[in-house]
Amino acid sequence: MLRLVRRVLPCLGSERARLSSGWVPPLRAPDVNSFVSRTNTCGELRAAHVGQEVTLCGWIQYQRQGLFLVLRDFQGLTQIIIPQDEAHSHVRKLLSNAPVESVVRVTGIVSSRPPGQENLKMPTGDIEVKVETAEVLNFCKKLPFEIKDFIKKSEALRMQYRYLDLRSSQLQYNLRLRSQVVMRMREYLCNHHGFVDVETPTLFKRTPGGAKEFLVPSREAGKFYSLPQSPQQFKQLLMIGGLDRYFQVARCYRDEGSRPDRQPEFTQIDIEMSFVDQAGIQRLIEGLLQYSWPEERGPITTPFPSMTYEEALADYGTDKPDTRFGMKIVDISDTLRRLDIGFVQNVLSYPHGAAKAICIPQGVRYLKNKDLESLKEAAKSQFNQEIMDVVCRPDGSLKSLLTKFLGEEQQSELIRALNMQVDDVVLLAAGDHKRVCSALGSLRLDSADLLEAAGMVLRDPAALHFLWVVDFPLFLPKEENPSELESAHHPFTAPHPLDTNLLYSDPTKVRGQHYDLVLNGSEIGGGSIRIHNAEQQRFVLEKVLKEDSEVLSHLLEALEFGAPPHGGIALGLDRLISLIVGSPSIRDVIAFPKSFRGRDLMGNAPDYVTPEELEPYHIHVSWPAAETEAKKN
Ligand code: ASP
Repeated sequence: MLRLVRRVLPCLGSERARLSSGWVPPLRAPDVNSFVSRTNTCGELRAAHVGQEVTLCGWIQYQRQGLFLVLRDFQGLTQIIIPQDEAHSHVRKLLSNAPVESVVRVTGIVSSRPPGQENLKMPTGDIEVKVETAEVLNFCKKLPFEIKDFIKKSEALRMQYRYLDLRSSQLQYNLRLRSQVVMRMREYLCNHHGFVDVETPTLFKRTPGGAKEFLVPSREAGKFYSLPQSPQQFKQLLMIGGLDRYFQVARCYRDEGSRPDRQPEFTQIDIEMSFVDQAGIQRLIEGLLQYSWPEERGPITTPFPSMTYEEALADYGTDKPDTRFGMKIVDISDTLRRLDIGFVQNVLSYPHGAAKAICIPQGVRYLKNKDLESLKEAAKSQFNQEIMDVVCRPDGSLKSLLTKFLGEEQQSELIRALNMQVDDVVLLAAGDHKRVCSALGSLRLDSADLLEAAGMVLRDPAALHFLWVVDFPLFLPKEENPSELESAHHPFTAPHPLDTNLLYSDPTKVRGQHYDLVLNGSEIGGGSIRIHNAEQQRFVLEKVLKEDSEVLSHLLEALEFGAPPHGGIALGLDRLISLIVGSPSIRDVIAFPKSFRGRDLMGNAPDYVTPEELEPYHIHVSWPAAETEAKKN
């Protein structure tokens, strides 16, 4: 080990230069045929192999009239010619009678396809394999659905037979790409930057604040483990333990039910570093993504742009703005303030009162009346926010309930402020700043979807808009009780150095050293510089958040033993990969995902256990009558 270090040292400078410039060491193509009974995969054979004897293993994708079949494995498809002569009658019988998706091993000679019969769409389309011998390794019974990507099946059925769905080329691609990205991340972190991959426990105890955690019963009466929502405490403790640079492909658990981009268990690329600041973490993540980014998704440009939380909220109505298109929220309070409309005057007289609008380009042509109505209804039902629409007529004048209150000058002001063109539609809202922004931010996204569904090209599907969102407030009012505060990220986030004094006088005004990474409008990561001073951490927990700091006494004590300054981040791996492969749901990049209701539809988990099995855990289930009946059946 030492000798290796000494030999490497002299060339460290040039090595560093190569690594930081994104230099990729040449990789030998992996040997996918080692240790197994095939000579080649079904995606491998080309004209250069003609004349060779090969053995292939795979699933029967397609079989025609006992003449040929198409064999499939993880790498591709190969056409197999079934011999028709008497000497091979048993081979013909075997292969003709095997149902599709049976798994077979064939040995034969690679031949060129007859002229004119080449298949340009198939990478192996120049050749076919003339079978000499064949074995059916296992028959396939009648399938619940066809393993073809273009056959749409219900997601529930796909999840029930997940192992069959995994045979589809799309899922094969997604999982293999995921594996490659993670491999590259490991290389970058461990080999290029000296990170240590450490596994942390999944049986732990409750962490105050944040998401709801799953409980696991223990044999000690009334005591439960919690499944960690993230390895947050452990990664900080590893810094106190002198590990210096930690990372983990970490499984995290949140008892929050599934959504298209969430499910109860998910994976994070979890990172922590000592002696680092916000900029250091940001540069690390930019380098990590650049290094591990799949070539087929094009290069990514760094550094990523940055936006404050306030700006994101004011311009896009969300802390994860989709910056691939404009339609930004525009403040028109000053224009409307001069109008003689009692309601508007009233709203604008409040301290956080505002009037804002978004302009939908060519809305008249692309949106139907019912689309506009549904947008307004959504604002009402989701945000309790009334919306007024304004249309720009072909002669450049405005049509709206508002126009009779608008003088010519104010009309031109509005047109200028919103850069309105003929046939544009403006959605306008007045009310509390935050609510107006959130409602318009949501309408901005909904109208973008409607415009695209109607044929407008608004967002380039190949575009990659990474964005750092920074300067979040450290605390936010609790939704259910706005007079109390909760952490905007988590209770371990350090205050912005310029705001530390405010922590003790007006915590609502403190910004946190917290940063989120957004890609095309989805949050793909978040982290912070941590509090490393025990007193400050205790103050935040007890005085600001009113939490019982006893639950965290181990961490508070650890901070007293020379805890280094430290910070970190976690990237949501499932979401990142689903954005890379362009799948609408993270379930398409997880081998065995849970359903919307958090169930495993294949193994039927969670499942009942017997009272005897519950006994060691001192748990007794009191069944509602209906469920007792259901359980019996
Ligand atoms: N543990 C945090 C999370 O899961 C990330 C971090 O602060 O590093 O969101």
